[in-house]
Amino acid sequence: MLMGLMQHQPLLVSSILRHAARHHAEGEVVSRRDDATLARTSYAALERRARRLANALLALGARPGERVGTLAMNSDRHLELYYAVMGTGAVCNTINPRLAHGDIAYIADHAEDGILFADPAFAPIVAAVAPKLAKTLRTVVILCAEPDMPDLPLPAGMTLHCYETLLAGHNEDYAWPAFDENAACGLCYTSGTTGRPKGVLFSHRATVLHAMTMAMGDVTGLRATDRVLPVVPMFHVNAWGLPFAAPMIGAALVLPGRHLDPDSIISLLDGERVTISGGVPTVWLGVLAKLRERGARFATLQRLMSGGSAVPRALMAEYAKLGVTISHAWGMTESSPVATWNSPKPSTLALDAEARLDEQATQGRAVFGIDVRAENEAGETPWDGRTQGNLVFRGHWVASGYYRMPETSVGDDGWFPTGDVGVFSPAGYVVLTDRTKDLIKSGGEWISSIAIENIAIAHPEVAEAAAIAVADPKWGERPLLIVVPRPDCTPTPESLRAFYKDKVPGWSIPDRVIIAESLPHGATGKILKTELRKRYAG
Ligand code: ADP
Repeated sequence: MLMGLMQHQPLLVSSILRHAARHHAEGEVVSRRDDATLARTSYAALERRARRLANALLALGARPGERVGTLAMNSDRHLELYYAVMGTGAVCNTINPRLAHGDIAYIADHAEDGILFADPAFAPIVAAVAPKLAKTLRTVVILCAEPDMPDLPLPAGMTLHCYETLLAGHNEDYAWPAFDENAACGLCYTSGTTGRPKGVLFSHRATVLHAMTMAMGDVTGLRATDRVLPVVPMFHVNAWGLPFAAPMIGAALVLPGRHLDPDSIISLLDGERVTISGGVPTVWLGVLAKLRERGARFATLQRLMSGGSAVPRALMAEYAKLGVTISHAWGMTESSPVATWNSPKPSTLALDAEARLDEQATQGRAVFGIDVRAENEAGETPWDGRTQGNLVFRGHWVASGYYRMPETSVGDDGWFPTGDVGVFSPAGYVVLTDRTKDLIKSGGEWISSIAIENIAIAHPEVAEAAAIAVADPKWGERPLLIVVPRPDCTPTPESLRAFYKDKVPGWSIPDRVIIAESLPHGATGKILKTELRKRYAG
């Protein structure tokens, strides 16, 4: 080591909770239980319980590097698990309970989870998948107290524990160990809208750096006085890093459990004086509809983080009227997930209100720590607001390939192909046109399904919309629009088509519009285009 050089300490996830427990001891963690009551704890108390849990994990035989599965909603217990599992050096494999049982079994088997923690509500899932996991799964722990233990038959050789009883049997005497910051801490499988689930293995270093960036002023801008409600589930790319960024800053965490309907979210936002929340656009569409119905406003909410699919411009405008700024972010499991975030630049200040909203509706600009570019056959595309290319990225929290799939490796400084297509504005904002496979190619011209959907959503009678390609003998493909009307509204296909006039070139206007009762959503809240294509493309 060079004399007098800066100290080197590994960037470990445990350092976040240690800091919160010491410097934000009273920082609050509020969790809504299954029976809708609220449980309250502090970062100091949570850290002590995480140490107890660390001892319990060691007693259950968890070893550094071993994968520990979770099937759980957002709660203080899931948060303790994150920190205890990662803090001991094991790997927290969050599994999305909304996936099909086959996919859940595939993930737990591929990850070789030795221990699985599950909410009592997910006991039936555990019962269904456990027989397929006999090779590696030895212990199941249900995240509840003894009276709430479900009746759960497990294959011979697997043991069942009650979480609170398990914790009570261990003490807090545990020191978070130091180890290599390049060790793995989390494993999250992408939700399979794109085929078999693929594992993304997060490192401690990437997770800590991502959380620091998340907290920056031009990203979430978190303060210790903020109260953060992640609606985005902790099984969806670590709830976008909020469970790390909030304690790092000392901001309170408000965790909704399984109560994710608009009424429950609004009451939690208001009742718990939440200032910032994060979730997919579908959530904010639902919350807005409820609020409109009641003619109400938010009590304390100031900002929303949204991504996962495109946030319609019209939705941003509606929230702005309520005094709430929606920050549009783009990324994916493979980028931990934040790659770009939308915040103004000095050039934004010169724009009029409409142009500002146009810019705000883009997917944002690269945050420090990640580089993004669009590529076509000629190389990197110019930042001209026109030239479309395949988006690729690299950086401190970008996967170098998928877990146990060496054929997918891009190495440490290779560009990771995102499967998304976009355009760069002259100011460096990314406008996501589509997922590669969702683009519509009509008569040699590309039509962005996102652009078509954004216009439909701006129609006053439309609640939700999706555009897909349908085969066309003359043009190759043509856009088909499927809309779900707002309650008590009856828009006609003709009125919707007319709404596109002067907003897009004539050839981009959908030929056919289908009025539907609902749209199919995937396990992470995205509209399932694969399903829509099956239903309507013929
Ligand atoms: P998957 O749905 O593939 O399992 P993710 O949940 O990681 O995986 O989602 C990543 C994808 O979600 C991105 O590749 C992109 O297509 C889409 N996405 C994410 N953020 C946005 C956004 N702000 N606007 C449009 N699409 C987005």
